[in-house]
Amino acid sequence: QAKELGRARFQAFHENMEYDFSKKVQLENDLHKALNENQFDLHYQPQVCTGKDHYLRMEALIRWEHPTEGKVSPAAFIPIAEDSGLIQEIGHWVLKTACATAKQMVRRGLNVVVAVNVSAHQIKHPDFQNLVETVLKDNQLPAQHLELEITESILMQELDMAVIMLKKLRRLGVSISLDDFGSGYSSLNYLKQLPVDILKLDRSFIHELPFNEESQKITTSIISLAHGLGIKVIAEGVENQDQADFLIENNCDYMQGYLFYYPVTSDHIISVIETLSPSQPP
Ligand code: C2E
Ligand code: MG
Ligand code: MG
Ligand code: MG
Repeated sequence: QAKELGRARFQAFHENMEYDFSKKVQLENDLHKALNENQFDLHYQPQVCTGKDHYLRMEALIRWEHPTEGKVSPAAFIPIAEDSGLIQEIGHWVLKTACATAKQMVRRGLNVVVAVNVSAHQIKHPDFQNLVETVLKDNQLPAQHLELEITESILMQELDMAVIMLKKLRRLGVSISLDDFGSGYSSLNYLKQLPVDILKLDRSFIHELPFNEESQKITTSIISLAHGLGIKVIAEGVENQDQADFLIENNCDYMQGYLFYYPVTSDHIISVIETLSPSQPP
């Protein structure tokens, strides 16, 4: 009987896998069409500065409106895009779209920085820095308005190559931030080696603030370590005032999260950004 049960379980597991697999294949096929059929959009989530800042900052986040599935989360389709190689094309679209939006804002006299998530596969592409340079040129956007967000896990495998590419990108004048810091294999050693300007504290720490003592200690230590290395800190996923108070108290430079702003559609972001003035404390 146990054997029967085991078999049934295995079967259920197996069917699930097949379901997931065919779902993946379907999404991959649909992703091919998504660009041409204008199914992507970029939303933008403003970040707030705890002190004074010359820049109005925001992160660009891709959205996919699938014709039959509805909204598909980037957490679900970005990995598929990476596996299939489509990430190069999608990443290029994101970069062009974000830079065009930033340029519109700069034209209106808004001093913005738009942060764009970049996948490991893009960083590893030997032409990536040329691509970034071309997009900036085409949009006549000065590089200081662009920031590239990378995650550390990707950089593990080919650290030397990644460091070379990041240095080239920085030489263009774009800034680099390290996303989801503390969520994966974070090694403090990377911080020393990687040419980064900003570290984004993963929301798993922020979630437990301000009452969990370990999270408090980790957060304050990372902030002071980063500052010691000349790196600024953004807290991700700030959802309540207690968290914000703790972060301000402990010199975190920027905050991002639902407490302040949800990601805003591309149609609305310019008017939202216009209501903010730089160096306005939260
Ligand atoms: P991420 O880069 O760490 O982006 C932050 C995620 O946290 C976003 O999810 C954002 O909507 C969400 N978020 C913001 N504030 C809060 C908060 O207060 N609480 C909570 N619980 N969540 C918050 P989203 O938009 O679903 O994106 C998920 C991930 O997908 C991103 O994580 C990023 O890794 C990836 N991604 C999104 N857009 C792009 C893109 O254009 N290119 C690439 N390569 N990856 C992208
Ligand atoms: Mg990000
Ligand atoms: Mg993040
Ligand atoms: Mg992430």
